[in-house]
Amino acid sequence: MPGLQQRLKRRADAATSDSSDSLAPLLTHLSCWSQLSWPLLQKIASCAVRDIQSGHVSDTLEHFARLGSSGALPQNMLRDFERILPDPTLPAAGLTIIPVKAKNARGWKPCHQPFFWPHEWFAALYRGYPIVFTDKLVGGSEAKLQKFWQVMLGSPLCHPVSLEERADFPAKAIPICIGGDGVPGLGVGKSWQRGVDVWFWYSLLAPSSSMGTYWLITAIWGHLLVDKTNVNTKKHVLKKLHWSFMALLEGTWPTRDENGRRLHNVPTGPLAEGWYCVPVLTSGDLDWYSKWLGLPHVSTNHPCLGCPCSKQQIMDFSTNAEWLDLMWTAEAWLLANPLRSWLFRLPGMSTVNVVRDYMHNKHIGTDQCMYASAI
Ligand SMILES: [Zn+2]
Repeated sequence: MPGLQQRLKRRADAATSDSSDSLAPLLTHLSCWSQLSWPLLQKIASCAVRDIQSGHVSDTLEHFARLGSSGALPQNMLRDFERILPDPTLPAAGLTIIPVKAKNARGWKPCHQPFFWPHEWFAALYRGYPIVFTDKLVGGSEAKLQKFWQVMLGSPLCHPVSLEERADFPAKAIPICIGGDGVPGLGVGKSWQRGVDVWFWYSLLAPSSSMGTYWLITAIWGHLLVDKTNVNTKKHVLKKLHWSFMALLEGTWPTRDENGRRLHNVPTGPLAEGWYCVPVLTSGDLDWYSKWLGLPHVSTNHPCLGCPCSKQQIMDFSTNAEWLDLMWTAEAWLLANPLRSWLFRLPGMSTVNVVRDYMHNKHIGTDQCMYASAI
């Protein structure tokens, strides 16, 4: 039996050898349990090797290692992490008054709702985060933007905008999608679950995942929406969104509010030195299109977004089906829908710009059968 000092030395040596090789086992473990992608594993390993070879440990890395009292207090990690971040230059959410349901005589009350206005966000990204602006809005290079418009200009999606009349087109025109979705907010999976209706926008040239490219506008409790003839939360919100997206399309700071009243003490001139955004698509699911955009609901007699066919005609898949000649063009749909949603009052937007929701055009349970519950 070795003596105490020998045992202590052996333990210290073991600890040293563990710590000198602690990253590789951790990365292996995380990757094998699908918690870390292979490209990210390679990137971390490559950075670690470079740091080790340079013999320099940065103060930031040491700070990361000490987060939450070196891991002992995980609840403090976010706080500690935020301490080394620079102050953000992105705009705070602007508060706008919208009507929401209330238990009073008239059934609603005004409420301050936060919005990240797209035109403000766009200007702030250009000013404070030029790399993010180029990467996530322009798509990495202006050549990619030019290529997009070369391909898209023949499409019916871009027809009514008269973009070519603008002298700065297409060099500074970023194509965007405006979208929304209802997501569980409170009591997920419970009988009293409350949903949140979320609005967002993103550049069609954005290269990476949704999480890194969608810009949040607002999130509104679905059960608080007022739907009366004279007070309607959705119309209120959409009119305001229209105002912000018009500023984004024009590429200049708005001088008037959504009701035409002059704004005072606000920035004027270009948002981003001539850059602007062109709404090309709107995305959501079938429920969203009906609820927020006033498009036909799937359970009605005329359920189609693409033509005015009936629910009997829609099931005709023959080559001489009646609906083939009824497909909407942008002009025909705009003429037939003068009281359309504010979103479709943006230049160039109509039912032909609605992303078709293939996910909900089948019974979702069929996925389970097709993939044999393998997922
Ligand atoms: Zn149809």
